[in-house]
Amino acid sequence: GTVPTVSLNDGRAIPQLGFGVYQVEPEQTAEAVATALEVGYRHVDTAQMYGNEAGVGEAVRASGLAREDVWVTSKLSNAAHAPDDARRAFDETLAALDLGYVDLFLVHWPLTAVDGLDIVATWKVLEELHADGRARSVGVSNFQVPHLRRLAQECDVVPAVNQVEVHPYLANEEVRAYGRDHGIVTEAWSPIAQGAVLTDPAVLAVARELDRTPAQVVLRWHVQRGDVVFPKSVTAERVRENFALFDFELDGSQMEQLTSLDKGEEGRTGPHPDTFD
Ligand code: NAD
Repeated sequence: GTVPTVSLNDGRAIPQLGFGVYQVEPEQTAEAVATALEVGYRHVDTAQMYGNEAGVGEAVRASGLAREDVWVTSKLSNAAHAPDDARRAFDETLAALDLGYVDLFLVHWPLTAVDGLDIVATWKVLEELHADGRARSVGVSNFQVPHLRRLAQECDVVPAVNQVEVHPYLANEEVRAYGRDHGIVTEAWSPIAQGAVLTDPAVLAVARELDRTPAQVVLRWHVQRGDVVFPKSVTAERVRENFALFDFELDGSQMEQLTSLDKGEEGRTGPHPDTFD
């Protein structure tokens, strides 16, 4: 089956499955993205802090695909939240990608623990980039409910997405529910917890029942919950495996077996958004 899209609050539609390139070496990135595009992925998730935007752009340009047929997301560096820095950093992102525009640009982290920074001032720069069309959609990442409420109170544009850590060990339900109620799509980062959930006995049991791999059942669980995912791998076989999610499904009981693995805050693998600086 083909990859479905998820509708955003700005009228656009994002492919629900993409390819993440966090921790892909800059020199390996063009090749990894080329493989993903050959397999059928039409959505790539990068960031200025990953240092590999140039490789993403190179692969998209070399692919022969029309620009509008590939969704490219990038994110603002933590070093560039002050408004003038943010404008400059976005120019650098566009230059590195060399694709004319980005489909989605995100504030990578809220950084509310850093003195002198203000999520409202930074978000207003993303509103400018959205208005001038160089960022077709804009959103945030690692925002908690209070951060989203502040934007709702003090800004005009509602983020199209919030990209946060979500996997069976960290349900992150409060922020997902806020998104559901306010038209903000959740993108689940580290959807397989960088591999940590793949040996869980419950995941293995569901995989055996469905005759699928552990990665496929966990990624399929995300898809059925409606979140956007972009697993990362530089191994061609796994890149193909992670793409084959649309010709099977988990039943209600299998969904619940994975959902019940939630460990709350103990399941978090990355930094906590409130304290990360
Ligand atoms: P992931 O959950 O996608 O796991 C990737 C790792 O799992 C790989 O390095 C590989 O070791 C293993 N793996 C992948 N496919 C496998 C398979 N089929 N079988 C067995 N093992 C497999 O972790 P991630 O890369 O951290 O997250 C995915 C993407 O999310 C990133 O590439 C990035 O685009 C995004 N991300 C965003 C943030 C953020 O702060 N916004 C943070 C982390 C990741």
